[in-house]
Amino acid sequence: MTYTVPLRDIRFTLYELAGLDQVLQAAGGEANRELVDAILEENARFVENAVAPLNRVGDTRPPAWKDGAVATSPGYAEAFREFARGGWQGLQHPQQWGGQGLPKLVGAPASESLNAASLAFSLCPLLTDGVIEALLQVGSEEQKRLYVPRLMDGTWTGTMNLTEPQAGSDLALVATRAAPQGDGSYRLSGQKIFITYGEHDLAENIIHLVLARTPGAPAGVKGISLFIVPKFLVGADGALGKRNDVWCASLEHKLGIHGSPTAVLLYGSGQGEAGEGAVGYLVGEENRGLEYMFIMMNAARYAVGLQGVAVSERATQQAWAYAQERVQGRAPEGSDGPVAIARHPDVQRMLMTMRALTEACRATAYYAAAAHDLARLHPDEAERRRSRAVYEYLVPVVKGFSTETAVEVASLGIQVHGGTGYIEETGAAQHLRDARILPIYEGTTAIQANDLLGRKTLRDGGATARALIGEMRATVDELAAVAQPGAGRQAGPDAGQAAGHPDAALQLLHGALGEAVQAYESALDFLLAHAAERPRAAFAGSVPYLMLAGVAHGGWHMARAALACRRRLAEGSDDPFLAAKLATAACYAAYVLPRAGALSAAVQHGAAVEAALASAVIA
Ligand SMILES: Cc1cc2nc3c(=O)[nH]c(=O)nc-3n(C[C@H](O)[C@H](O)[C@H](O)COP(=O)(O)OP(=O)(O)OC[C@H]3O[C@@H](n4cnc5c(N)ncnc54)[C@H](O)[C@@H]3O)c2cc1C
Repeated sequence: MTYTVPLRDIRFTLYELAGLDQVLQAAGGEANRELVDAILEENARFVENAVAPLNRVGDTRPPAWKDGAVATSPGYAEAFREFARGGWQGLQHPQQWGGQGLPKLVGAPASESLNAASLAFSLCPLLTDGVIEALLQVGSEEQKRLYVPRLMDGTWTGTMNLTEPQAGSDLALVATRAAPQGDGSYRLSGQKIFITYGEHDLAENIIHLVLARTPGAPAGVKGISLFIVPKFLVGADGALGKRNDVWCASLEHKLGIHGSPTAVLLYGSGQGEAGEGAVGYLVGEENRGLEYMFIMMNAARYAVGLQGVAVSERATQQAWAYAQERVQGRAPEGSDGPVAIARHPDVQRMLMTMRALTEACRATAYYAAAAHDLARLHPDEAERRRSRAVYEYLVPVVKGFSTETAVEVASLGIQVHGGTGYIEETGAAQHLRDARILPIYEGTTAIQANDLLGRKTLRDGGATARALIGEMRATVDELAAVAQPGAGRQAGPDAGQAAGHPDAALQLLHGALGEAVQAYESALDFLLAHAAERPRAAFAGSVPYLMLAGVAHGGWHMARAALACRRRLAEGSDDPFLAAKLATAACYAAYVLPRAGALSAAVQHGAAVEAALASAVIA
């Protein structure tokens, strides 16, 4: 087995930290714990057996382009058929359209596991999910009827076409043109680059969602419209018609996710059976395309955050297994001979840092998914509003922090392997290569940080961030009430052993989380005080602020996890999972939470280096 779904930690996170019971109750449907467990087990069987073995195959035998057609890696088509037959695409979409109507909080672990099995494979369903979500929210009834059921059952797949050579982070520069035809349709011409699964042989049709400009549209983001452009035109009865004028000119050669075809797409090169210009259909109103695309982008940003959790989990599992087997060097306290490297304190530090970061990112992501569900389902309007604000605040944190963390975790995974990790056959290097795209696509970390600071923090005067900080402080108080003073924070040779005791772990968490929350609040105060007058100083610290939020939110949930474990242990449980979770939380306190102070300082130093940054870089 190359990857095992961490069902125990997933369940713990769902029930103890994210509040799945509350979400299921608010949903009011048939779903209950039993059903969710059955779904997660079935999902685990599928991804472990059908998808995980493809991870390496996609890496070593990437999709092949020939005359505009793309043959995916061996085994991908069969696995995709199995994915479609299992109904996995529709897990969190409405039953009315052929989905299973489950909360995002149930979809999240299924998506995480699919991505851990193979990031490259999972990108196709990830983007199709976003297309479904966008069409359900802003498509016409006819568009929903024609496209959504077939996207949901895997007959067709979806893509997201934003990027052009001159328009990456800055979509105001999109130049693809869309000319109205007088019959309600448009003809598109232009070039899109880096389009994931823009061409492939997994399904019979591909539904591209494309950003383009109509004649006379205003410049900038206010002049962008959203179009559906099917690879094959679709009749009113859903039957496939003529080949549309959208063509894959080439595939990119990439650092990682080799199994995912990244296409250059040409619109309107005049080769199609349907005449010159790709036939497209407007979604919603003209010039509101970017606003609509944000529906898809937000869904995709969250999903890419989960990809970060996924690759971290897989890299951790692989390093963990290797460290038990590789024998090298004597233990510092003395041993009869060389020991497994897992017995060296520094390897233990690396493994536990990997595990702690992974579990913290998972917890923050699931907590955000629950907020998404409660924003829709909670009976109380004020609670719905509060949950929506929390979800929106957390999306850039989940995306930015989990993906930057995935790069760190995958890199540590190589370090645990030593030189073997740098050799491709081991597989550890692939995790790092695959992870490296995650902080770039769907908006780079800087773009997430701009969103977190500008739209999600400054716009409401820091209200959402402060409310979350208030909840963190309540957890710090709870830790203070149960932890024995002095047990875990002492330096010296007994500190490690002391931290193995539940109360010592809580004591360590109490101090470290308290300091991290204080650091988070100081950074927030600084940003709120200075952003209006000195925006450059504030935005110089936007990424450190995002990373600080990630560290603090992760620490908060690790502390909540530790408190839950302590309660169960106090009730007499001797479940080794609880002790392991406590140890992981203690290691998060030891190795990750102290970063908060440095990140907060970096945010606040923006004022001091503002001028230096500009003068040094722009000569
Ligand atoms: C493998 C792969 C798959 C992809 N899949 C898709 C897809 O399916 N559909 C699609 O439309 N696109 C896709 N993309 C494109 C991807 O979303 C862009 O590459 C990404 O948004 C960054 O744009 P860019 O590459 O033009 O970089 P740039 O925008 O040129 O950014 C370069 C650097 O400048 C920084 N920067 C830019 N603007 C700002 C700012 N305002 N503030 C602070 N820093 C800034 C960035 O953070 C980055 O560090 C994919 C890309 C890759 C590599």
